[in-house]
Amino acid sequence: MTHADVLKAAGLSADELSGGTLAVHSPIDGAEVARLTETSAADMDAIVARSRTAFQSWRDLPAPRRGELVRLLGEELRAAKDELGAVVTLEAGKITSEGLGEVQEMIDICDFAVGLSRQLYGLTIASERPGHRMMETWHPMGPCGVITAFNFPVAVWSWNTAIALVCGNPVIWKPSEKSPLTAMTCMKILDRALERFGDDAPDGLVQLVIGGADVGAAMVGHKDVAIVSATGSTAMGRKVGPKVAERFGRCILELGGNNAMIVAPSADLDMAVRAIVFSAVGTCGQRCTSLRRVIAHDSIRAELVERLAKAYATLPIGDPRAPGTLVGPIIDSAARDRMLAALQIARGEGGTVHGGEAVEAVTGGAYVSPAIVEMPAQTDIVRTETFAPILYVMGYTELSDAIAMQNDVPQGLSSCIFTTDLREAETFLSDAGSDCGIANVNIGPSGAEIGGAFGGEKETGGGRESGSDAWKGYMRRATNTINYSRELPLAQGVKFDL
Ligand code: NAD
Repeated sequence: MTHADVLKAAGLSADELSGGTLAVHSPIDGAEVARLTETSAADMDAIVARSRTAFQSWRDLPAPRRGELVRLLGEELRAAKDELGAVVTLEAGKITSEGLGEVQEMIDICDFAVGLSRQLYGLTIASERPGHRMMETWHPMGPCGVITAFNFPVAVWSWNTAIALVCGNPVIWKPSEKSPLTAMTCMKILDRALERFGDDAPDGLVQLVIGGADVGAAMVGHKDVAIVSATGSTAMGRKVGPKVAERFGRCILELGGNNAMIVAPSADLDMAVRAIVFSAVGTCGQRCTSLRRVIAHDSIRAELVERLAKAYATLPIGDPRAPGTLVGPIIDSAARDRMLAALQIARGEGGTVHGGEAVEAVTGGAYVSPAIVEMPAQTDIVRTETFAPILYVMGYTELSDAIAMQNDVPQGLSSCIFTTDLREAETFLSDAGSDCGIANVNIGPSGAEIGGAFGGEKETGGGRESGSDAWKGYMRRATNTINYSRELPLAQGVKFDL
């Protein structure tokens, strides 16, 4: 299928795709596929006002009824899985199975959120006063601004939107300027769900704004956007976080990662090699949870590197639509240049580089061979997230040193250990172990399930999305005390004789 056919099958008309100023390119071949009309930052007041009006009625609907819209969204996503997956491939360059896998994550979070819509429960707490009951209740907060990155152009929106909607919040979505077409496709799918849902859904319940950082900044700075959930680089989070804090808004930050695997002497190396290759080169190293560092015990390091180098040499690199391709393009030539520059720095810091070259795969696209870099120590470049398939390998002798090295980076998203030694596994998961939001045993750092809370510490921003009780980030908690007695005991034993 041509790019135009893919976009047409997704329901995007030629009119919508032309006449604007934002040029959209496919990383597959660099072709310009659209010129979109951008949202003006000056329109943000009206957009937020519409969202606030939608909030007034949406919060009044019982949560299980709100969940019904998300259930319908899940159904529509199932029906449109192939078409949306193909747009993800076109716009983010993901191989076909990864494009479809991303849509599956959307379906899964819808299922999760539907169940959640019949829960959203608070606690009942023992009161110290006779004839009193104390409890906590959870309430919607208002417009939720969602900023997403190019590399998970649709899943991250759904993680936020499915939960925000059942929690009673309208959504304003600012996708990456590199992936607005997947966002437009999602809105069409949502429109079909809204149509089936009927009149209970207010106008402007979910709005899309198209553009770059300036449009995002206008949303972030708006006092009536109650929650800002921003996914992207740490550099972006450094700007967004303080701006939201300044006006005491709620912020959920999902930023860069620098994820490591410790490979212990007892590790099952067959499993470790599979996990390393999948998580280091999948999505061409452009996942927030991509494996970027291997910390291997000195007794098995040489064997591991040899096996990895062999596996890397056979990786099919090329057109992500072609069956058999495992490594598609990197997002653009600037990202490729950043990868090559990082490798140059690594060499300067004592690294030995295997692979990591520009590859001529499809004319116009930016393709690279994934790199393995043996490092003498964890230098500055290793501590930096380069959003590309670079895997740094370092050695250790004592587990405590390996854990210290794993934690000695500014980011704190995902981590794992490969070991068959129970003591090592438990130490890694203990208070003295990994300092990341995700810590795994005998499974790589990427490919989180939506049932768990997703996010990380330190420069990853501290936010949590998706499963577990991440929904609490989208609601405000009220503590309620009810006096059903005929007395009014005053706090701290104070007596007011009135
Ligand atoms: P990016 O920071 O360049 O852009 C992300 C989004 O932020 C875009 O929509 C962009 O327009 C917007 N933005 C940028 N500056 C802004 C500002 N000042 N105000 C408001 N919005 C602004 O990131 P990217 O290159 O699209 O994505 C890659 C990065 O995202 C990597 O660092 C990756 O680790 C991270 N990421 C993190 C997670 C996570 O869950 N932790 C998930 C996906 C990606």
